[in-house]
Amino acid sequence: MTNKRLFGTFGVRRLANKVLTPEFASKLAAAYGTLVKGSVAVGGDTRTSTPLIKHAVISGLLSSGCKVIDLGILPTPAVQYAVRNYYDGGVIITASHNPPHDNGIKFVDADGIGIPDEMEEKIEDMFFAENPGRVSWDQIAEVETNSNIIDEYIEKVISRVDVEAIRDAGLKVVVDCGSGAACFTTPYLLRGLGCQVITMNCQPDGFVPGRDPEPTEDNLQDLINAVKNLGADLGIAHDGDADRTICIDEYGNFVFGDKTFALVEKFMLIENGGGLIVTTVATSSAIYDIAEEYSGEVIATRVGDLLVARELKEKNGLFGGEENGGLIFPEFVYGRDAALTTAKIVEIIAKEKKSLSTLIGELPSYRSEKRKVECPDDLKEEVMERIAQATCEFEVDTKDGVKIFTDEGWVIIRPSGTEPIFRCFAEAKKEEDAKKMAEWGISLVLEHLKD
Ligand code: MG
Repeated sequence: MTNKRLFGTFGVRRLANKVLTPEFASKLAAAYGTLVKGSVAVGGDTRTSTPLIKHAVISGLLSSGCKVIDLGILPTPAVQYAVRNYYDGGVIITASHNPPHDNGIKFVDADGIGIPDEMEEKIEDMFFAENPGRVSWDQIAEVETNSNIIDEYIEKVISRVDVEAIRDAGLKVVVDCGSGAACFTTPYLLRGLGCQVITMNCQPDGFVPGRDPEPTEDNLQDLINAVKNLGADLGIAHDGDADRTICIDEYGNFVFGDKTFALVEKFMLIENGGGLIVTTVATSSAIYDIAEEYSGEVIATRVGDLLVARELKEKNGLFGGEENGGLIFPEFVYGRDAALTTAKIVEIIAKEKKSLSTLIGELPSYRSEKRKVECPDDLKEEVMERIAQATCEFEVDTKDGVKIFTDEGWVIIRPSGTEPIFRCFAEAKKEEDAKKMAEWGISLVLEHLKD
């Protein structure tokens, strides 16, 4: 566990212009710039507060001696792509799927991967000590704009799939960008691939009038109805900063992120004749089943997309992802990439000449169950240790929380990082077993809380 004071799992997210003020943003960016000392790209999402925070971030970077390249409004993975190819660092102004009143700042390294914990702690130290490095007047560099990145990013995504096969399939796709950064990419990408595109919520708007930025089933009811009523082949939705893709099948069914992950994994392994897959301990066993069938190998990290991205880079992995629909193609971008995910899914449908529901139906099927239970923060460590000891007759993984495997399935018991609760997530072939496993997880917490 780290003792970070400002940074969460990926960046700083706060109430815009209340906590995340221009002063806050500028000082934080100056601390980051002090460590980077080079050319830093800055981009952001469509929130009303993004220009305000972006200009403060640019000031901070300039004051610490960095050169700044303003990339404009664009998806998080497009910034990560640009930094990896052209710059020494990057700052992304976004609060991802949070509500419109929030905003956030994400820092990436020269590979476009979110910066490590040690660097975040150094930035915090400088922030609280009020001592970021400030350069003299004659060391202040320039601000350039680069408005070509979006087109280049879309072109590079298109070059990674079989355009001819997708064109021939003539797919009808309804796209819901939730008024976020994907407005500038996904509709153009799909048209470039020869799809018939119907857009909704595809005008960038910081008030997010159409739907909440988080692409959950509840928030995507308009898209679900549109796919059904228009007889489309599929629906595509993104979160605010366009690093996640959620699919709706041709019947209007919401496709859970772990299914999309498994589907793309299968075809990545087939195309490449096997390879290393990286995911987290909380992801479906389907990922392992597919790897076994198609010459893949799976490594599981602690929960968090940054950890998956770093492991992919270190181990030269083929593909990775999380159960929430965030898929990582490390050869292109070291982070979740909604555009390449979208292109891959239409490519699979086109080349297999099967509907999305059929393709999903062919994947290994598991049932999952989620529960939570209260536990004071200061007891969490001890409860986890006791549970691990009490269940040592089973196979137990303590990489992140306690994951216990039985003949029926598995349950993972993880402490929340923000609330005094444990989350229990269970998976089994049969629904009743998944429920039983989740309840067992809860009972283990309650039992070991008492002692
Ligand atoms: Mg996001």
